[in-house]
Amino acid sequence: MARGGVQPRTTQPPAPIGSDTIRIGVLKNGSYEVVTLPMEVYVGRVLAGEAAPGSLPASLESLAVAIRTYTTTNRGRHGADGFDLCDQTHCQVMRTANVATERAALATAEQLLLYKGAPATVFYSASCGGRSEKPSNVWPGADDPPYLSVHDDDGCGGFPMWSAELAAADLQRAFTAGGFTGTLRDLRVLARNDSGRVARLALDGLTPREISGQDLRMVVGRALGFQHIQSASFDLRRSGRAFRFSGHGAGHGVGLCVIGSMKLAAQGESAAQILARYFPGTTIGSLGPRLSAAPAEKPSVATAPPRETRVVPPAPASPGTATVSDIDAIRAADVQLTLPEGSVEERGVLSQLVVRERQALVQALGVPAPRVRLRVHDSTEAYERAARRPWFTLGAVVDNEVQLAPLWLLRDRGMLERTLRRQLVHLMVDGELPAKPAWVREGASIYFADPASSGAPRVVCPQDRELQSPVSLGALGDAFARARSCFERQVTGSRDWRKVR
Ligand SMILES: [Zn+2]
Ligand SMILES: [Zn+2]
Repeated sequence: MARGGVQPRTTQPPAPIGSDTIRIGVLKNGSYEVVTLPMEVYVGRVLAGEAAPGSLPASLESLAVAIRTYTTTNRGRHGADGFDLCDQTHCQVMRTANVATERAALATAEQLLLYKGAPATVFYSASCGGRSEKPSNVWPGADDPPYLSVHDDDGCGGFPMWSAELAAADLQRAFTAGGFTGTLRDLRVLARNDSGRVARLALDGLTPREISGQDLRMVVGRALGFQHIQSASFDLRRSGRAFRFSGHGAGHGVGLCVIGSMKLAAQGESAAQILARYFPGTTIGSLGPRLSAAPAEKPSVATAPPRETRVVPPAPASPGTATVSDIDAIRAADVQLTLPEGSVEERGVLSQLVVRERQALVQALGVPAPRVRLRVHDSTEAYERAARRPWFTLGAVVDNEVQLAPLWLLRDRGMLERTLRRQLVHLMVDGELPAKPAWVREGASIYFADPASSGAPRVVCPQDRELQSPVSLGALGDAFARARSCFERQVTGSRDWRKVR
């Protein structure tokens, strides 16, 4: 499972119990077939895809609650594709349900992990390898809520151990396919993060010259298969013309550890105990009618803080069907898309996405809708040439034209909507903020592209060069997060965004 993408911004009244459905894009012969499933049927099928075989009920039930919460907060992630979630590792893998997974889904029906009354941001992975990971170490710039911290996990106890020996020539092939240029001379671990995972590696002889541990997993996985480097918890040494990786754990390690939950259930822990261990500080509850139909509480004492009385579940983003409404057609007239030959069938959904996101930003920023010229590149090399930036920047505005990395890369990273929104904000605000430091413009683009509060910790605002000539994906993510914090600190004081400095 990958991380959540867009935060739906529209709200709808809660649906009646049992009527909640989810639209799943099922990949068949290279294209998605949309299947609408009742929520609990979907949870049962994802459990069959994501749980460890032979898991006890408490383990399945804890994962069912995590799956349902992930589904709720990521509904509409593929809105532009015409469905909510896909059935691949990008979202959640679906298999044929069995008696045990159906029972776990129904036993926990409608239960969600809540934090401060709203569905929590949850993740899960096969095994944390003995120490959990926090989101920002995996997805640079991601928020780190208090319930997703780095902590030891005696549940999985470091299982599984793995090792892989990869020939330098195979690694070279993977890097070239991933958009790197040059000849790999050596590969070395440069830094580890606070969870002990590999944060950065040096790629001697290649450009870019560094890669994060998580990105190495992705680049090698895409080209050579994900079974080789199973996590970023590894040691690395060279042996002749090969590199030997030895590590433990499988997957990103954020949130619930599936293998850990299996062993904890075998030791007698309940689903609630397992969830409290992996998401401390959250509660299990439900949204919608069941919440409002609950027996009325005793009148609260006058000094009690106001209670949140109604929680609105995230609603699907506006449908991304192929038919563009009349109004959208008029709005789309000033959107000019240039797509690579293999992606021409994406024109409809992409154009709708641009129109929808631009409209939302026009309202948020109070500026007129700009004419949009957007070019999607078919390779990372082509993107780098046009954007004059490394591939991992994913999007840029050059001469008033939005440049986007290949769609497969953006979708794979769950970054299509966010990258597009950031570039649209640049089109709208850069002209108004020309003489300011780069962090003001980048901060604005990140803030308005994803305005849910990050808590804006006090940080040093990044230098222009950190944003304009980033040395690695990790460094860029860090600079983005600081730019956002610096920007948010000023605009949340209700200052006009034009006055941030
Ligand atoms: Zn997906
Ligand atoms: Zn674990």
